[in-house]
Amino acid sequence: MTSFDCDLFVIGGGSGGVRAARMAAQRGARVALAEAGGTDGLGGTCVNVGCIPKKLYSYAAHFAESFEESHGFGWEGEAPRLNWASLKANRQREITRLNGIYLQLLSGAGVTVLNGYARLLDAHTVEVDVASVDGGIAQQRFTAKHILIATGGTPHVPHMTGREHVLTSNDMFDLEPFPARLLVVGGGYIACEFASIFNGLGARVTQLYRGEQVLRGFDEEVRHFCAAEMRKAGVDLHLNAGVLAIHRTPQGLEVSLEGGGALMVDAVLYATGRVPNVQGLGLERVGVAQSAQGAVLVNDDYQTNVPSIHALGDVTARVQLTPVALGEAMVLVDQLFGPAAGKAARNMSYQFIPTAVFTHPNIGTVGYTEADARQRFGRVTVYRSEFKALKHTLSGSTERTLMKLLVEDATDRVVGLHMVGPDAGEVVQGFAVAMKAGATKAVFDSTIGIHPTAAEEFVTMREPVASAIKP
Ligand code: FAD
Ligand code: NDP
Repeated sequence: MTSFDCDLFVIGGGSGGVRAARMAAQRGARVALAEAGGTDGLGGTCVNVGCIPKKLYSYAAHFAESFEESHGFGWEGEAPRLNWASLKANRQREITRLNGIYLQLLSGAGVTVLNGYARLLDAHTVEVDVASVDGGIAQQRFTAKHILIATGGTPHVPHMTGREHVLTSNDMFDLEPFPARLLVVGGGYIACEFASIFNGLGARVTQLYRGEQVLRGFDEEVRHFCAAEMRKAGVDLHLNAGVLAIHRTPQGLEVSLEGGGALMVDAVLYATGRVPNVQGLGLERVGVAQSAQGAVLVNDDYQTNVPSIHALGDVTARVQLTPVALGEAMVLVDQLFGPAAGKAARNMSYQFIPTAVFTHPNIGTVGYTEADARQRFGRVTVYRSEFKALKHTLSGSTERTLMKLLVEDATDRVVGLHMVGPDAGEVVQGFAVAMKAGATKAVFDSTIGIHPTAAEEFVTMREPVASAIKP
């Protein structure tokens, strides 16, 4: 019988890798994990340059509107000013704390944590660049019964003149100085979130998106509604727009625009998608199949075409969300090492994955868009509510909230639920449970609301609308 150094070798200490390593070790497996960013990189994109610092900055940005709105509630005096250096330092302190917690969780579970870049040598062997005592780098080899690729993704910036002046989301958290004038290119999650956040923090933000409307893939009406609210909040959003070239001048970065004209800004953020982190990983050497974009291809069991090698999370470029990577990791561990004592093996469903976009205001959504629901279910009834939140009767803000329910006529099941408004992510998470459980509109109608909240609208919508999609 072949003996291996470990039962599972995990490449990548991000959301998926850490969860898989920790849970496998808790099941008694011998586990090693390599993280290229060292212990400072533990937690991966989400902890270091993604969800967590982004949400902290989003909280920071929301204070601007809170200070403004407080006057309507009787608060007087000048609004405080943002100390960017202090926000950055406080964020870093929290991230360092989280890195430490991840290390403790892994070490506590008995996982061997290796600080270094790892590559595949063959179907059962991994080589890791580990710092040696003399300060150099030494290569160490490990054999493993199973190998997990959880290397995540990295920002993609298209080629253009002046690409060297462009920043990615990775650079935004420690930017120095704070950009008074920021150009954001892109119309996805990251572009819209960062445009909202830096606008709230006090930058003059221009956003350029190449298509007809931002947030492709989201419900059509949600996209229009959110874009309108972002504009009202101060983001100068241009559609069907793009960059020709960027040049550094003494006044700042001069951005020439497609179709003529130019902009002068202090920083340019490209949020134009992410690509799988597979460079130098040895996939070709070992014969692991990849998509044309480089994503590691896996079957429903997260197994690649090389049976001992598995992959999950962003590197597989399916649903790029932290809770999805975590869910996939737990399913894989159950498959490889058996479920936890007394529990059934988990499975992963990709239907009704809730998600939020932390724009200002937030989008929260679960299930089908109106267009997709009509295509899939045929007859669908739409319920919709648009209103000014109670808070804004005094705050002076013109922000509005949108809520929308899509109901399959044949079954009365709620198949889509969308919100644009404050804390939409918090609101939608609970409704996602109901939708997973197959809740019908009748169940929504029989649910007592919590008054006075915005969320109660979801259980009090009685009159359908013909279609909420505007031509
Ligand atoms: P990652 O977390 O990216 O981890 C991969 C790790 O592998 C990294 O630490 C990397 O250093 C390491 N690595 C790579 N190659 C090697 C190698 N060869 N050897 C050793 N180590 C290696 N998702 C949400 O659900 N909610 C959000 O609010 C949200 N906000 C986001 C905001 C931003 C700006 C970004 C960029 C992403 C956001 N995401 C969010 C997405 C989320 O961060 C990812 O889906 C999630 O981190 C994917 O986890 P993962 O384990 O697949 O990869
Ligand atoms: P997305 O794929 O969401 O968006 C990329 C955007 O860039 C799209 O608007 C796309 O336009 C545009 N784009 C792509 N290529 C070009 C180009 N060459 N020139 C101009 N524009 C271009 O990627 P993000 O980078 O925003 O985010 C990556 C993923 O990370 C998300 O899909 C999401 O899964 C995850 N994430 C989740 C968050 C959350 O949960 N809140 C927050 C942040 C990220 P088009 O639509 O026309 O293709």
